Amino acid sequence: MHTLNADLHCHSSVSDGTLSPEDVAARAKANGVQLWALTDHDEVSGQQRARAAAAALQLPYLTGTEVSVTFAGETVHIVGLGFDADDSALTEGLRRTRGGRELRAREMAAGLARVGIQGSYEGALKYVGNPELISRTHFARHLVETGVCRDTQEVFRKYLTEGKPGYVEHRWATLPDAVGWITGAGGIAVVAHPGRYKFSANEEYALFSQFKDLGGRGVEVVTGSHTPHDFVKYAKLAQEFGLLASRGSDFHSPTESHTDLGTLPPLPGELSPVWEALQDRVWR
Ligand code: AMP
Ligand code: MN
Ligand code: MN
Ligand code: MN
Repeated sequence: MHTLNADLHCHSSVSDGTLSPEDVAARAKANGVQLWALTDHDEVSGQQRARAAAAALQLPYLTGTEVSVTFAGETVHIVGLGFDADDSALTEGLRRTRGGRELRAREMAAGLARVGIQGSYEGALKYVGNPELISRTHFARHLVETGVCRDTQEVFRKYLTEGKPGYVEHRWATLPDAVGWITGAGGIAVVAHPGRYKFSANEEYALFSQFKDLGGRGVEVVTGSHTPHDFVKYAKLAQEFGLLASRGSDFHSPTESHTDLGTLPPLPGELSPVWEALQDRVWR
């Protein structure tokens, strides 16, 4: 089961990916993925399409989402897997989480205008597939397209991260809410790409202890956002905290993503894969 090609983290144009749910499904299948979840940011409106596309391809499917959370002043992402996508507490909670994005985007554009970059709100909107889900990624695409930066990495580094002109502080969902919505809807909550957060060892410990106390059960170990060093570090952490391990590319786009669907190494053998605990939630 460790060698199952599971890809349980990726995005479509329903959030900040560039491909439709159907095209992500086809790409996952073509790349040899054997169990797939589409995990759009703060949104489950693509789940029906993803599940139908997967069924047509005979690709086993788990429902998914990636919830934006504010913890200790930082943004943390919590992936939910195998939940009931029609659960009203979940869909309502996600709707509220998305709610602040438009105003935030207007403030981001105002910040960019102060350093001479005009019209970025309208520019970003051209890349948005879901009007409720304007994200920093859409601004990044616009700034690359208009020649302000060479690639999206450079846009984030120069304009869209803390302390930079287009960065706007934002309060997302709380950790108890995000874990509660996912588990309340019958799913498993997973800490996404922990290697990306800028926490001290104490803050990271606090995140995982609180996450466990709240009923969170999983952690991403092998992800496109981790280095091989992170694979080892978070494999150890999964064992220390008794967490199930997950694997996912975090694929967003054929031209921007450095890790394609289904191309990551397998989970280290000593870990318990999250998909073993989700067998009865798989759509086949
Ligand atoms: P948002 O939810 O609007 O804050 O946007 C977060 C998204 O931006 C993430 O899900 C990534 O897709 C993307 N992102 C964050 N940091 C970077 C980075 N350094 N380079 C490229 N994309 C990034
Ligand atoms: Mn994203
Ligand atoms: Mn993320
Ligand atoms: Mn993601």
